[in-house]
Amino acid sequence: MNRVPAPARRKTLLPYGRQWIDDRDIEAVEAVLRGDYLTTGPLIAEFESKFARAVGAEYAVAFSNGTAALHGACHAAGIGEGDEVITSPMTFAASANCVLYQRGKPVFADVDEETGNLDPASVAERITERTKTILPVHYAGQPARLDELRELAKARGLVVIEDAAHALGAVYKGRRIGSDGDMTMFSLHPVKHITTGEGGIIATNREDYYRKLLDFRNHGIVRDPSRLEKEPPAPWYYEMQSLGYNYRLTDFQAALGLSQLDKLELFVKRRKEIAARYDEAFRHSETVVIPRQEDGAESSWHLYVIRLRLDRLEIGRDEVFRRLLEENIGVQLHYIPVYLHPYYRRLGYPEGLCPAAERMYGRILSLPLYPAMTDKDAEDVVRAVQKATGT
Ligand SMILES: *Cc1c(COP(=O)(O)O)cnc(C)c1O
Repeated sequence: MNRVPAPARRKTLLPYGRQWIDDRDIEAVEAVLRGDYLTTGPLIAEFESKFARAVGAEYAVAFSNGTAALHGACHAAGIGEGDEVITSPMTFAASANCVLYQRGKPVFADVDEETGNLDPASVAERITERTKTILPVHYAGQPARLDELRELAKARGLVVIEDAAHALGAVYKGRRIGSDGDMTMFSLHPVKHITTGEGGIIATNREDYYRKLLDFRNHGIVRDPSRLEKEPPAPWYYEMQSLGYNYRLTDFQAALGLSQLDKLELFVKRRKEIAARYDEAFRHSETVVIPRQEDGAESSWHLYVIRLRLDRLEIGRDEVFRRLLEENIGVQLHYIPVYLHPYYRRLGYPEGLCPAAERMYGRILSLPLYPAMTDKDAEDVVRAVQKATGT
C-alpha cells in the first residue's frame, strides 16, 4: 500500500502576520534619531505627500495610529451626538469605536458572507434621517462594493469613510483604493501592508477635510496667519480653535514609512503569490472554501480567510484551529462581529442583528499571510490545513 508519511510539525511558530524590516529601513530611522527632530519634523510632510501620490490622492494626513486616524475622519465628517454611522460588524472594533468617540451611534449592516464585505442592500435598509456616514471596511484587502455604497451615499448627502486598514495597494474597477473616496484610512500597524510601528493615515481629495484633519491631530491648534480669528499681536501667537488631540506621528516613524513605501509593490506582489498558492491548494477541497473574489475588486491580500464546510467535517472550527496551532501554524480569527463584544451588548445591540456575519464568524479562520513568508512556509500551511481538515 502506498502510504504518504504524515508531514512533520514545524519547529517554530509561523505567525499569521509579520513586518518586513530591512537594513534600509533601519538606516533611515537611525539617521533621524541622530538628527534634530524626533517628533514632527520635515519627514512628516514628505511621507504624507509620497503616500498621497502612492494611492493617487491629493492629500494625506498621518496619525499616531489607524484608530486615531478614523477618529479624525469622523470628526472631519462632522459626526456628533446621536449621528448614525453605518458600518460593518465583520471588522476590528476600531471601525465602530471611532463613532462612539464622537458620541455618534454605530449602526451595523450585514455583510455578504462569501466576501465579508458590506451588503449594499442591508446598508440601504438601515439608513434613517439620522444617518450621516457610511463606513465600509475593505475586508481582508478586497474592496467593498463602493459603486453601490457611494450611490446610496450620494442620494442622501452622506459622507463615505473607507476603513482601508487591510487594503493598501488594492484596486477597485481600475482605481486605486484611496484615490477617489471622501476619506480613506490606512493603518501602519506591523501586520498591515507597510508599517511605522504604530501609525495611521487618511487620504482625501478635499481641502476642507485636509485642514480639519491637520488641526484635529494637533489639539485643534492653528498657526497659519491667514486662518487666525484674531489679529496676531506677535509672531509667537497661535490659537486653539477646536478641540483636538495629540495624535501626531513622529519623524523617525515617518522615515520608516518612507522607506517602507518603496517596497509596497513588492509586498503586494508577494502577498498575491501566496494567496494564489492557497487558492490552488484548496480550490477543489471538500471541506475548505477559498475566499470569493468579486469582478473588478482586486484584493491587496491582507488576510487569507478560509470558510470551513462544517457539514462535511467531523470536527468543529475551534478543533481545526487548535490542530493548526499544534502544528505551529499561527492561525487567527477575523473577526468576532463587533456588536457581540460585551461592551456593545451592554449598549443594547442584540445577538442576531447581522445573521450573515454571525454565520460567517462560526466557520472562518485566517491563515498566515505576509510577504516575508517563504514558499516552504506556505507549503507547511497547506499541508497542516489538509491534515487538520482531512482533505
Ligand atoms: C488595523 C485596523 C485598524 C486600525 O488599527 P490601528 O492598530 O489603530 O492602526 C482599523 N480597522 C481595521 C479593520 C484594522 O484591521
